Amino acid sequence: MSAYDVVVIGAGNGGLTAACSLAQKGIKTLLLEKHNVPGGCATSFCRGRFEFEVALHQLSGMGTPEKPGPLRYVLDKLGVVDRLEWVEMENLYRLLVPGQLDITLPADREGVIATLQERFPAESDNINSFFDLLYQFCIELLGTYRDPQASPEVYPTYFQYALTSTQEVLDQYFTDPLLKMALAVYWGYMGVPPVSLSFADMAILLFAYIELKPYHLKGGSQALSTALLEKYYESNGTARFNCGVSRILVEEGKVTGVVTEQGDTIATDYVVSNASTLAVYTEMIDPEHVPEEQFKILGGSTIGPSSFTLYIGLDCEPAQVGIDETTNFLGTTTDMNKVFSSLKRVEVENDYVLLTCYNISDPDASPPGTSQVVIVDLKYGEPWLEIPPHQYYEKKYQLADQLLDRVEHYFPGFREHIEEIEVATPLTHMRYLSTPGGAIYGFDQYAKDSNMFVSPLSPIKGLYFAGAWAGSGGFQPTLSSGAAAARAILKDLKSQREVAK
Ligand SMILES: Cc1cc2nc3c(=O)[nH]c(=O)nc-3n(C[C@H](O)[C@H](O)[C@H](O)COP(=O)(O)OP(=O)(O)OC[C@H]3O[C@@H](n4cnc5c(N)ncnc54)[C@H](O)[C@@H]3O)c2cc1C
Repeated sequence: MSAYDVVVIGAGNGGLTAACSLAQKGIKTLLLEKHNVPGGCATSFCRGRFEFEVALHQLSGMGTPEKPGPLRYVLDKLGVVDRLEWVEMENLYRLLVPGQLDITLPADREGVIATLQERFPAESDNINSFFDLLYQFCIELLGTYRDPQASPEVYPTYFQYALTSTQEVLDQYFTDPLLKMALAVYWGYMGVPPVSLSFADMAILLFAYIELKPYHLKGGSQALSTALLEKYYESNGTARFNCGVSRILVEEGKVTGVVTEQGDTIATDYVVSNASTLAVYTEMIDPEHVPEEQFKILGGSTIGPSSFTLYIGLDCEPAQVGIDETTNFLGTTTDMNKVFSSLKRVEVENDYVLLTCYNISDPDASPPGTSQVVIVDLKYGEPWLEIPPHQYYEKKYQLADQLLDRVEHYFPGFREHIEEIEVATPLTHMRYLSTPGGAIYGFDQYAKDSNMFVSPLSPIKGLYFAGAWAGSGGFQPTLSSGAAAARAILKDLKSQREVAK
């Protein structure tokens, strides 16, 4: 007999929601996490008097209590919404391209349209038509989720545009590259540029942030991870930290257990992996148990970007260095293909970066009179692996210095107010997340690797996936994916029990 009904590997967003959902349904669940804290990306760390948010910049899908979004529904069901303090952001973002554009888009449809029309009056009608298309597309897309018979006759806009690239749609509607850039800024949250990003992914992201608002939460994403873990314990779930899983045991096409890095064998019929599909199929399961087809599928996917990240504590309020927005995208060019190629080099010169100052939305994000600022520069892990170890520290601080020069240009006086700074490279993310290349969104988010086509099920009976490698990266998709994996297991358990009756 199995010691546990389900073993969950990894306590990132996907693993935590899967474990919590299962334990709350009375399923005997064991959560095994390699690191010593829960959360994966959804965590924090302390330096001096600052507690730095590692990953969460803008949470999508929450919505208000009056107009709840899908993520609020998932978290509410797990009982954690009321345990946390949610912070709604007023604006989507500020986009700064020196000498060319400085625009802040509010998080409401009329506001975004009016702001864009004021700055780009020549394209006023097209801005209206674009948002009509975006809304119609998203309404139809949401309709397809509930309609197993979805057809082009009922959802014509969805079928026409779902796999069209974001760039194609932008080119169809607009001429000014600055306007196209202003609308496609969120591609950085997906990791692939407008030319490769499906309109479906871009549209739903923009629609979700406008309709359901971007959120942060007090205490950062670690507060959410801790709340999920507490709920899990309250439902009699068991967890072990500092306990990586090295192998998943399979017999006759069926999961039979896992082996921990300490050498313990734990019997189980179901495994949910929050670890990457790549690690699971190429390292954790003996190759003779992995269908050939699976290797072909993996061979067709590429590992997504990681990040070069600066975590900075300022000894002053944001206004003192001219920061008045939470979410700031800093660019130098409208050529997003050029920007995307820069993700593949180590150098940071002229990179397109995200600068978040949490205190604008949440004054408690750092001690009174200070500010917490995080700068994210998406970078692939591979070039970092080529840096000789003895040059690593010198290189990372030299690049950090260059990025700070850029920031100083946008926000004069920034440098002299730095009290604490920590620099994370793709290798840091690799170390703490155990993801290939330190990837933060899973595979590159081309349409074929998105939620539209990837299932949490695997060809091995009893093996399920949750998290960025099982669809899309980002908080909302990964938190939701754990709940989906749990639902699939509950359904399977129910049908097994009915057969056994
Ligand atoms: C700097 C940065 C900025 C980001 N900004 C945003 C943002 O603004 N908005 C947004 O939505 N998303 C953002 N993301 C991305 C988002 O945080 C991730 O996509 C998401 O949190 C990944 O969740 P996951 O469920 O895939 O698990 P992960 O966070 O990858 O966690 C997986 C867990 O599994 C554990 N594990 C792995 N292998 C094993 C093993 N063999 N045994 C046991 N445990 C194992 C790891 O230790 C880890 O704890 C950002 C990420 C980073 C790093």
